[in-house]
Amino acid sequence: MRIDSLISRADAPFFSLEFFPPPDETQWPAFFNTVEHLRSLSPLFVSVTYGAGGNRRCNTLEIARELVGRGLVCMPHLTCVGAGPGSIGRFLQDLRATGVDNVLALRGDAPVGQEASSAGHFRYACDLVAFVRERAPDMGIGVAAYPSPHPESPTFAEDRGYTAKKFHSGANFAITQLFFDVREYEDLVTSLRAKGVNAPVVPGILPVQSFESLRRVLSMCGANIPGKFYLSLEESRQKGGEEALREVGLNFAVRQIRRLLDMGAPGIHLYTLNRSDLCLRIAAETKLGRS
Ligand code: FAD
Repeated sequence: MRIDSLISRADAPFFSLEFFPPPDETQWPAFFNTVEHLRSLSPLFVSVTYGAGGNRRCNTLEIARELVGRGLVCMPHLTCVGAGPGSIGRFLQDLRATGVDNVLALRGDAPVGQEASSAGHFRYACDLVAFVRERAPDMGIGVAAYPSPHPESPTFAEDRGYTAKKFHSGANFAITQLFFDVREYEDLVTSLRAKGVNAPVVPGILPVQSFESLRRVLSMCGANIPGKFYLSLEESRQKGGEEALREVGLNFAVRQIRRLLDMGAPGIHLYTLNRSDLCLRIAAETKLGRS
């Protein structure tokens, strides 16, 4: 089932969940336990990253196969940097054989010292979108969108324009990069609508779980963090340790989600970092998902 159809049929806001494939197969049982705990959120779909953070790419397919077998609508991510049409075409065939109907089409990041746009056959994600649309015309295609523009973009306007181009190339919906200022999401959606893009834009939310994980993701994605929020995380950790920091992170995420739903966001994509505890608490606090 295509995710854009599921979203248009959803009669209430939903959760979707992002996982990354555990690099080591011995970690898989614990990983699938986490997935089972999070099933109580009735996620509309789950997504599995591809090659991010040095994970082996083939695990994406294996994990997706297992998730589909467990009855979940699964969207693997796929990056095209450094890849050719042959390997991408084979991956798409494997996905279809696995019962997957959706893919998140991304450019990805080139190895340090190389330019992504010169690292292979596909220059940008829009090239991959067009390729997937041609090879698998009935597949649901998601793309990345950036409330705070992509770090390589010189201006907001250019980044918004290139995001729109991914839809004009055949994408059906977008998942956003994590962000902490809801006005950035509002601006992104307004700008896409003004460019004639009416497809769903699902906001991606990261509940802050630790300073270490926050630093890691911020260094990778270039999202902005409001100074006041950063200071309150720091202060809570000094006074009450990681537990207190998680409470501040939880309360912030809950407020963010409420405001996004008030703005008309169709649902919330949670960056789970493969952990269930905070996600379950967010579901309980926001009363979103059937927990
Ligand atoms: P693009 O849309 O191609 O954009 C990249 C840059 O090029 C931007 O600055 C854009 O403005 C510019 N640009 C785009 N099109 C054009 C054009 N036609 N002409 C000129 N400039 C253009 N990475 C992974 O490795 N694995 C993952 O699983 C993964 N999952 C992700 C999931 C989400 C929801 C998000 C938001 C990101 C994810 N990423 C992942 C990170 C992503 O690969 C990087 O952010 C990457 O740098 C850009 O990918 P993109 O698909 O947005 O690229």
